[in-house]
Amino acid sequence: LDTATIAIIASEEDHLAHNYHPLPVVIARGEGSWVTDVEGKRYLDLLSAYSALNFGHLHPAIVSVAQEQLGRLTLTSRAYHNDQLGVFADSLARLCGKDMVLPMNTGAEAVETGIKVARAWAYRVKGVPAGRAGIIVADGNFHGRTTTIVGFSDDPSARDDFGPYAPGFVSVPFGDAAAIEAAIDENTAAVLIEPIQGEAGIIVPPEGYLRAVREICTRHRVLFIADEIQSGLGRVGYTFACEREEVVPDVYLLGKALGGGILPVSAVVADRDVLGVIQPGEHGSTFGGNPLGAAVAHRVVEMLATGEFQRRALALGEHLEAKLDGLIGHGVTAVRVAGLWAGIDIDPAVGTGREIAEQLLRRGVLVKDTHGQTIRIAPPLVIRATELDWAIEQLRLVLQG
Ligand code: PLP
Repeated sequence: LDTATIAIIASEEDHLAHNYHPLPVVIARGEGSWVTDVEGKRYLDLLSAYSALNFGHLHPAIVSVAQEQLGRLTLTSRAYHNDQLGVFADSLARLCGKDMVLPMNTGAEAVETGIKVARAWAYRVKGVPAGRAGIIVADGNFHGRTTTIVGFSDDPSARDDFGPYAPGFVSVPFGDAAAIEAAIDENTAAVLIEPIQGEAGIIVPPEGYLRAVREICTRHRVLFIADEIQSGLGRVGYTFACEREEVVPDVYLLGKALGGGILPVSAVVADRDVLGVIQPGEHGSTFGGNPLGAAVAHRVVEMLATGEFQRRALALGEHLEAKLDGLIGHGVTAVRVAGLWAGIDIDPAVGTGREIAEQLLRRGVLVKDTHGQTIRIAPPLVIRATELDWAIEQLRLVLQG
């Protein structure tokens, strides 16, 4: 590390809350799948800001719409209409095959909004007695960092010491549809799950799980809320991970890549009979639906509507899976792949996930560890097969020691 890098990291250590443990690299520029640090070294970015950069850094089609909008109008608040929000909502609703969109900013806000919508729907439509609406979630979930959301996490570092926790949530094993059905009672408003659990290490549920959840929710008149914030928008080779089982949830929660890697844009998307329950004054956000975010997200939706990125993710994902399978038994104990998204369990004999990530960093590849022994990769969907091959070769060399 040169002195500039050391000084920048030291100033962060001094004045930034220590809520992250970043890899020791200071990024100054990005383009496509590559970033450059303050020393001029280049790295292949295999994390894509946890899937927020599905289209890579500075995608020209997204940057150009942002620049154009920056010269016209950035913020109105929802006190007025703006000329970007309606067309964006229309395009996103169409992409999702739903009627309505409620725009927010961060993923956690979309989750919170989904919870509020489900509860209001339960009281006003389903007839659940006041204050009794329940939501079923899955063990190992990650839905964000608000006080309500961390209350139904089972990750001690996310949850401990942040209580008291909001009541109204029941957690059951992920991948077990019968456990969901057993947890449902007459006051259940919704089932909230990630179709593939991201932060947990790319946990793909058994085939048939999402279809069974759909069927159970329909039969018990419970909303199926799919948190597609990390799994959606092309990552797994489809617009939504639910499509892997041809399942349509009642509510989509979207974020991350929706903002094109430029700014936070999230949304709750559902039909009128659900999202229509929210009345003026009951929910909102100063920045949610701002014209800059709406213009960018509209472009993202247009890019996804062609299907090009989904097809790339599917094809490259098959390629990635074949390569990663070859590492099992050579420093890797298991891999889980869905489209261009992979959880790679590192054999403790060769090191921790963090140690492998640090060694890959020295070889010009950026990945992030999760839960100790797992490294997670989510390359930009614009990555080339040759770049992916080079990165896997670096991993092979690191594992070899
Ligand atoms: N939901 C899922 C599935 C996520 O992966 C994340 C972030 O990692 C969130 C919600 C929270 O999003 P944000 O960090 O934008 O609040």
